[in-house]
Formats: sequence, structure tokens, C-alpha cells
Amino acid sequence: MLFNDNKPYNDYSSFVKRKFNNRVQKISLNTGFTCPNKDGSKGVGGCTYCNIHTFSPDYCKPSKSISQQLEEGILFFSHKYKTQQYFAYFQSYTNTYADVNELREMYIEAIRYPNVIGLVIGTRPDCISPEIVNILSEIAKTHFVSLDLGVESTLNRTLDIINRCHSFEETQAAYAMAANKGLHLGAHLILNLPGESREDMLNHARELSKLPINSLKIHQLQIVKHTRMSLQYEQTPEMFSFMNVDEYIDLVTEFISLLRPEIILERFVSESPKKLLIAPNWGGIKNFEIADKIEKRLLEQDIWQGKNYSE
Ligand code: SF4
Repeated sequence: MLFNDNKPYNDYSSFVKRKFNNRVQKISLNTGFTCPNKDGSKGVGGCTYCNIHTFSPDYCKPSKSISQQLEEGILFFSHKYKTQQYFAYFQSYTNTYADVNELREMYIEAIRYPNVIGLVIGTRPDCISPEIVNILSEIAKTHFVSLDLGVESTLNRTLDIINRCHSFEETQAAYAMAANKGLHLGAHLILNLPGESREDMLNHARELSKLPINSLKIHQLQIVKHTRMSLQYEQTPEMFSFMNVDEYIDLVTEFISLLRPEIILERFVSESPKKLLIAPNWGGIKNFEIADKIEKRLLEQDIWQGKNYSE
């Protein structure tokens, strides 16, 4: 079975092309908010794998206003495609972890910026409230709003190991709160976290399929410098067992076969800066290269998204 653009899975770029009839580029923003597992309200130290510098482009500095960051980000991308439009991507840290009035002002400033047609808000499942959902669903009446929650694992024992300081039940509750409010609901999952077997990882596909999500980003665990996980890796390397690219593609192929067919797949791999990456070394493979390989593997094996999905 083939999806849009003749792909064996439900692909995000095809979804964007269909929905907006244009190229849409995300412009990353840094609000300077923190996280409840960093500031002591739930924990300290943050997620063990987290190094904020792996996902903040140079123009993203919380000392700059949202408009200034958008201006610089758009300037950076606009020379490539003159007519493209933009999503303001609240990416770094926990972008709903602030006073609701402050949040509203930031989101409104972003959607008022020329050529910004939507918001993508990355946050933690335990930092969603009915007030925040209301603000976002008001904006969603006129703009695309994607609320992306870091699920990371559906297993509480893994969430404990990586110091997420929230449970999978909190993830389920956050999606239930945000469902049917006009929002596009995204999820983020890390494969190959410590202590997870292949069956555990495949089971994430079954559990995620039960959530009211519209899209999913998955990526491999990467150990980067200046993280608590880098120390764990040095001291107890047996906690980790990495896959090579081929094994990862094999796992993702089976994962996709178990996934609800309506879920749009946005990413398969993460690309941390080379100077920060400790393991695994996949030679700097890009998301589009992995996506090509996964597509080829799916077609070769006559597998498609949802082939083995059951409600
Ligand atoms: S991964 Fe996200 S939630 Fe975890 S510490 Fe880093 S910014 Fe905060």
C-alpha cells in the first residue's frame, strides 16, 4: 500500500505540501525558559541526554526578541526559496513553562510576523494546562498550531533512568487534554534508550498508536558531550548497546509496520553536531538519507505503515 507521493509511509513533507501548497520552513526560536527537571521544581540536572546546544542555531539567543530571532532566521533561509513560508518553532527547552500571559504574548508576536503561517511548540507532557491549551486553540482558529510533546519512551522505568521526571500516564493525560481542540498533536520518541529491548521499542509503536497524535518524530539515542549520559557512558558503558545504521533501519521498518497509518512521520534520525557527538558514530548520515534507505527497505520487503497495526 502506498501513501502520498507514492511512499510506503505517511510522510510529513507530503503533508505540508498538500496542506499549504508551498514550502514551509521552521524557524527555531529560543525563549530562554527552563524545565521543571532542571530548576528543582521536579528535579535537577535535566534529562540525562540533554545538551541544549545540540538544537539551538546560532541566531537563537533568548536575549533577542521573538521578532528579532524570526528576522534573522528568515534572512538565513529566504535566499534559497524566495516564496516559502514559515513556522515559528519554539524548540529549545520547555516552551510552555512560563506564565500564561507571557506565553500568549510570545506566541502572538510570532504569528504576527510576516510570512509566519503557524506555530510549532515543543514542550514536556507535564507542562500543559487547560489555560495553555485554550490559548493555543484560540490561535489555531486562524493559524496552524502544532503542539509537540516529548514522549521519549512509553516505559516509566526508562523515563526514570533518563531523569525525565514525568510518567507515561502524564503523557497520556496531556494528549487527552489537548485532543479535539483544533491542534495538530506531535510526539517525539527516542529509540535505543538504556535498558530497552527490541520488543520494548516496537511496543512504543503500539502505545503511540493509541494516542490522539497526528505526527511523530523518532530518532536514535545520541550521547553528546557535556551531558550526564556522557559520564554514565564513560563509567558504565554496559548500560548502552548501540545499533549500526542497518540494524536501526531494520528496527524502524518493523516499527512503522506497527504504527497507526494516519500518523505522519516527520523524522527518523537526529544529527547532533560532530564536535559534540560521542556515540554512535554513523558518519554524519542525514535524515533524508536514512528516510531514503527506510523507504527502500519497506518497498523491498513489501511492508507499509500500519501493515501489522491492530486497534
Ligand atoms: S531534553 Fe527537553 S525537557 Fe529534558 S532537560 Fe533538555 S530541554 Fe529540558
